[in-house]
Amino acid sequence: MKGLSNIALSVRASTTLAVDSLAKQMVSEGHDVIGFGAGEPDFDTPDNIKAAALAAMTAGETKYTPTAGIAALRRAVAARLLEDCGVKYESGKIVIASGAKHSIYTALRALLNPGDEVIIPSPYWVTYTESVRMAGGVPVIVEATRDEGFKITPEKLDEAVTVRTKLFIINNPANPTGALYDGGELRALADVCLRHDIYIMSDEIYCSLVYGGKKFVSVPSLGEDIKERTILINGVSKTYAMTGWRIGYSASNSGIAGIMESYLSHSTSAPSTISQFAALEALTGSQDSRDAMRAEFERRRDYAVARINSIEGVSCIEPDGAFYIMIDIGEQIGRTLGGRHIVGGDDFALSLLKNGLVAVVSGAGFGAPGYVRMTYAVSMEKIKEGLDRLERFVSGE
Ligand code: PMP
Ligand code: GLU
Repeated sequence: MKGLSNIALSVRASTTLAVDSLAKQMVSEGHDVIGFGAGEPDFDTPDNIKAAALAAMTAGETKYTPTAGIAALRRAVAARLLEDCGVKYESGKIVIASGAKHSIYTALRALLNPGDEVIIPSPYWVTYTESVRMAGGVPVIVEATRDEGFKITPEKLDEAVTVRTKLFIINNPANPTGALYDGGELRALADVCLRHDIYIMSDEIYCSLVYGGKKFVSVPSLGEDIKERTILINGVSKTYAMTGWRIGYSASNSGIAGIMESYLSHSTSAPSTISQFAALEALTGSQDSRDAMRAEFERRRDYAVARINSIEGVSCIEPDGAFYIMIDIGEQIGRTLGGRHIVGGDDFALSLLKNGLVAVVSGAGFGAPGYVRMTYAVSMEKIKEGLDRLERFVSGE
């Protein structure tokens, strides 16, 4: 038989989703696993949003919609971007897709020619490198160290640019580090992109989850010239506890938005009609539950950071946003834990899961093998128990 697609064969499955599946399988086999793996709010989708979905079904809103989404939802996204991010888009430049992950992939298909380079700061969310490969591009990784607060500098970005560079991907606040770039830092990075004629993909899906009184700045709000070359990505999954509804969106210039719409018309068509009506309520209804969830995430972050730094042999820096913590396991390398020799995050995560019954994601998939990532999008009770288990595990008890 002839071989499969070379591109497809080079793509690795999502490590965040893989650890989640393994942990869920262990739970189904009767193991009491604490899951700090995939980042998914533990809260239920707020009642007003579920009610809107039921009302839509009852009203017969169960047919195809226009590919880029219902007009009311595109307008609601534009209104929220103006209110939350201070950035003005006409609703025709908003394209709704089946999750922000699909918005990212579709935008990459719109932008990349085979061999185009895409600069991605590490540690990075696993999906960026693989979706760039899936779209025929070449990921170019630029490392941001712990000492730099996991944020890349304009000098590093500039050094990574070649004649083939097409796009720079920034995730702010970031998964997996929780790093938050301020306005000045974003401006300096955007200036490099302007100078070299590079597009920017700004994934702002965690924009509402910012802590410690810090301020979120949206990349396209920095100026018209930057906005014109930016593809903004966002969605309702994280902010409104709607991961399973699969609604994401992009805002871009009309050329890119039009191509994305054509691509979607031949792949998924429009996202689920019922979910679109639910997302409409999420964006236009009361924002009280969103604010309450944010406050609870901040409480958990504060506890988890202090607790991790009280454990001998592991440490972390305080994340300013999202709901993840990178746990530095550098001191564990070379030890034997749970009968496994620890060479990096993969061994540590596997041994912690099998022997300590805590699921974390190895930093290897994020380009940071000396770390593991935990999410605090789980209850405080589980955070306490899981970190107690982590302490027992590294103490070799
Ligand atoms: N961007 C980032 C940084 C994420 O962590 C996620 C998590 N799934 C997504 C995009 C995609 O979210 P979704 O597809 O659920 O909208
Ligand atoms: N984005 C979340 C994470 O990083 C959910 C899983 C995924 O889609 O990757 O854990």
